[in-house]
Amino acid sequence: MQRAGADYIHVDVMDGHFVPNLSIGPMVVKALRAHTTLPLDVHLMIESVDAFIPHFAEAGADIITVHAEAGAHAHRSVQLVKSLGKRAGLSLNPATPADAVDYLIDALDLVLVMSVNPGFGGQGFIANQIGKLASLRRKIDASGRAIELEVDGGIDAATAPLAIAAGADVLVAGTASFQGGAACYAANLQRLRGGP
Ligand code: ZN
Repeated sequence: MQRAGADYIHVDVMDGHFVPNLSIGPMVVKALRAHTTLPLDVHLMIESVDAFIPHFAEAGADIITVHAEAGAHAHRSVQLVKSLGKRAGLSLNPATPADAVDYLIDALDLVLVMSVNPGFGGQGFIANQIGKLASLRRKIDASGRAIELEVDGGIDAATAPLAIAAGADVLVAGTASFQGGAACYAANLQRLRGGP
């Protein structure tokens, strides 16, 4: 994916509690770190997140994103990420309003809009998240800070232009990036960026 032109390697971490699936832990992030110089964008879909943040930081994550819904203390989690010298992201599930970022925006480096319910790949894009992206774009611009607006879930050649038009500047794509195998990765990424 690095050779194919990707900007980030997005890593979905799931705990079987916050989301109904289990995936990888810090050991796998550490193994990935050895294989790419791209920023590792680690998306923590887990509860009790604060206990795990230092492990992912140590494993080589560059961006650590926590969910607004994963506990009562998103502010503390974001501060913990920052204190470890990493870029901090806040992720919003489809039912969480854009206003959830209001009292955290001064600390954030990235806002991640979930355009599917987190847990599994291959789901369809939830169209009303476009309005939330546009609303977050306005908040980020008003903050004057360099905060990336990322969208994750159901991104393909049809939905990517809608997300970009609404103000997203980082697109996460699993299925649409990997389809067709390694020979197709570069063309797949180019199509998501609006190329032919
Ligand atoms: Zn993700």
